[in-house]
Amino acid sequence: MTAEVRFEAIHHRFGNFTALHKVDLTIAAGEFIVLLGPSGCGKTTLLSILGGFVTPTEGKVIINGKDMTHVPPRGRPTTTMFQDYALFPHMTLLDNVGFGLRMRGVGKSERRTRAQEMLEMVGLGDKASRRPHELSGGQRQRVALARALAVSPDVLLLDEPLGALDMKLRRQMQDELKAIQRRVGTTFVHVTHDQEEAMAVADRIVVMNQGRIEHCGSPEDVYLRPASLFSANFMGEMNRIPVTANGQNAQSPFGPIAMTMTGREGVLCIRPENIGFSGDVSLGPARLVESGFFGTHHRCHFEPLAAEGTRIVAHLPQGSQPGIGQNVELFATNAVILRDEVAA
Ligand code: ATP
Repeated sequence: MTAEVRFEAIHHRFGNFTALHKVDLTIAAGEFIVLLGPSGCGKTTLLSILGGFVTPTEGKVIINGKDMTHVPPRGRPTTTMFQDYALFPHMTLLDNVGFGLRMRGVGKSERRTRAQEMLEMVGLGDKASRRPHELSGGQRQRVALARALAVSPDVLLLDEPLGALDMKLRRQMQDELKAIQRRVGTTFVHVTHDQEEAMAVADRIVVMNQGRIEHCGSPEDVYLRPASLFSANFMGEMNRIPVTANGQNAQSPFGPIAMTMTGREGVLCIRPENIGFSGDVSLGPARLVESGFFGTHHRCHFEPLAAEGTRIVAHLPQGSQPGIGQNVELFATNAVILRDEVAA
């Protein structure tokens, strides 16, 4: 089961503080959406408004065409999976997973069949009679997911669902979460502040900052073609070089750049892995001043010859880095010029 979700001009205040500023967002049925942003940007508030735990000060929440703004959580086709899982310690996994169905008055045998099916789906079919304390963190997380999906919600809300797991398990669970979402086709709305996690699971990422949406797009879009300096920086390391207009082209501290720009000032943004010895934008000659090995790449600090004191960070494939002190011609691909737009 699945549903389209629409937030229409959602504005939310806590006392004098405005947590969300007229947020508009449409989530397609069956989409895996990630709300991403730093602590305090309003992502949990938006999720809580969708789940019915918070009523927005203004605006509407429409689920499958129905206005649900004032409908309590129980009346919505949504289920929330919290970070702490909230599993019942004294119940078996089968009973934990079947709990929501019991609350909905589903009979015992149907409940057990459905709960068993859900446990199979998350790879724990042989552990139905265990209790939560007999499981690892990753397994408990899977039980929580099975329990949330057992009641066939149209929309599953996930608030930092992998926050309690260590990094390796977290990466593995991201792959599993994505695979399960594809299989069930339920709309997933997932909150995280981890941009790698967002890219690993999302069909679309909604980058939020101070109660506003900065950018909404595919992982490739928000990473490679950021709409704002904030999303460019938030999505990962970025070289940021101030540029000014020189006719129609950009002028950098180390010379003219063959990129058109609108406005008089901007910031040339290039990811470290998009700098190398060929590309569509020439950055001129530069000297390697520092380099370190990171397993998958060499992290190299270059100083442009025409702008001493400026640094360009490049991630170069193993074996391709020049020697310290050597001069090379640097080029960039996927470069964008952004302006620091102050939201109205
Ligand atoms: P985090 O990742 O830390 O959970 P978040 O992006 O989910 O952050 P929210 O929890 O949505 O942020 O909070 C957005 C803003 O609203 C924050 O500045 C927070 O302090 C404020 N806020 C949240 N809940 C309340 C509340 N009940 N009363 C007053 N202010 C609140």
